[in-house]
Amino acid sequence: MKKTFYITTPIYYSSGKLHIGNSYTTVLCDTINRYKALRGYDTRYLTGMDEHGQKVETVAMEQNITPQELVDYLASNTKGLWELLDIKYDDFIRTTEKRHKKVVKKIFEQLLEQDDVYLGEYEGYYCMSCEAFFTETQLNDGHTCPDCGKKTKLVKEESYFLRLSKYEDRLLKYIEGNPNFITPESRKNEVVAFIKQGLRDLSVSRTSFDWGVKVVSNPAHVVYVWIDALSNYISALGYNTDDDSLYQKYWNGDEVVHVVGKDILRFHAIYWPIMLMALDVPLNFNLYAHGWYMMKDGKMSKSKGKVVYPAPLVKKYGLDSLRYFLLKELPYSGDGIFTPEDYIARINFDLANDFGNLLNRTISMANKYFDGNVKKSTKDYFEFDKQLVNLVNETITKYKEDMDQLKVSSAILNIWKLISRTNKYIDETCPWVLAKDETKQEELNSILYNLIESLRLIGILLTPILIDASKELFNQLNIPSNLQSWDSLDFGQLDKLVVTKKPVPLFPRLDKKIEEEYIQNLLNTESN
Ligand SMILES: [Zn+2]
Repeated sequence: MKKTFYITTPIYYSSGKLHIGNSYTTVLCDTINRYKALRGYDTRYLTGMDEHGQKVETVAMEQNITPQELVDYLASNTKGLWELLDIKYDDFIRTTEKRHKKVVKKIFEQLLEQDDVYLGEYEGYYCMSCEAFFTETQLNDGHTCPDCGKKTKLVKEESYFLRLSKYEDRLLKYIEGNPNFITPESRKNEVVAFIKQGLRDLSVSRTSFDWGVKVVSNPAHVVYVWIDALSNYISALGYNTDDDSLYQKYWNGDEVVHVVGKDILRFHAIYWPIMLMALDVPLNFNLYAHGWYMMKDGKMSKSKGKVVYPAPLVKKYGLDSLRYFLLKELPYSGDGIFTPEDYIARINFDLANDFGNLLNRTISMANKYFDGNVKKSTKDYFEFDKQLVNLVNETITKYKEDMDQLKVSSAILNIWKLISRTNKYIDETCPWVLAKDETKQEELNSILYNLIESLRLIGILLTPILIDASKELFNQLNIPSNLQSWDSLDFGQLDKLVVTKKPVPLFPRLDKKIEEEYIQNLLNTESN
């Protein structure tokens, strides 16, 4: 039986257009999901929308539409964006759906019955923009929000509370006993330090607005947005319903991964596991919290007039360029920076020059020297042959390690080292010199065979990362589909090759000055 793999993005809050930061999470999950599918896993990829909360209610009122109309509109926009980015999700959950609300209601009532949730009184400073409460000591000057700087409001109301303190020790022990539960290490340390300060019970309901899931036994209360939102990871699988086969298969399966941005780490690393412990649902997931995409001069933010949207970049430069940039430029445990200069440089240097040109040169030589007919060759003619094959094998090994740990940026760096090495192999072996010598045809053929094999394997490794370019590489090289699979990831499996096509550049080389200006313009107008 196939191993199962279940991966989730956070559900995005319905408050406007998604920028490249949110798109990063979705593209990363898509890449990892495609990688697992390539490796033969039975995969399931969940994304969706968080559609409740006061902010939705307020924005809808401002626009003179119902909250449902607002979230319908935003959900269809978001789906459109994922289609443009070729995101292959299996399910798109919306918290306004019946299937979700039903589960949230049951979860809340169960916690209440068990006395893991109790009724008390809440007093705190609420930031509507962040949907978060703060104590007075957490606020900035003038009672403003420590996260976004906007004004907060003092709220005093009856509220239900989740007993976080009760599970504090159990959670700490779990984190200690499961070193991969929260990654990267730096984020885990943050979480542990936070828990060790002592957890205060969490307010989990509101009476001050309507737009949410009503508490069944006390409908004056709406379930607090985070309890509502976090439940999506199991409600989407049919947890606690008549048909929970997906839940049994994927949640209780082999691997479950939640990917989130570092800003919502605490909700996923503390509140969510405690909810699951209280519900007696196994903590079968691993959590990866990534950094942010920043602008050169700080955080990406719409209110500060600095934000990059993915759609115009895809329309102008293609999907693979965006995927490549996003996946490469955000390091595993740090932040990444978006600049127009880097965006164009990655396309020109990495994609067009290094990668595209390697394919182009190889096909051109195969056509020119052998009319496209290249035979299998296993004999080493040059010292460089072994060096190349060794690096191919090393790259495959590192790729598996990196991708299994969601270190896609590192996997890409290693693939590009191999691309550089393969380019260098051409310069070292000088096929154009051998071509002039009738007695060196075997050597010349073996060079082309090695180049094509290296490119074929690079194509397989790039399959989850560059969607169109990997297909186009196989297409231009005429690689049969069985040799595009993970099982064929060994140097020398290709028997012979007939290249019939003329090479077509995978990525166009761009005019640096013109295109940098174009993106800069986009930033200026899109941000306003
Ligand atoms: Zn705020």
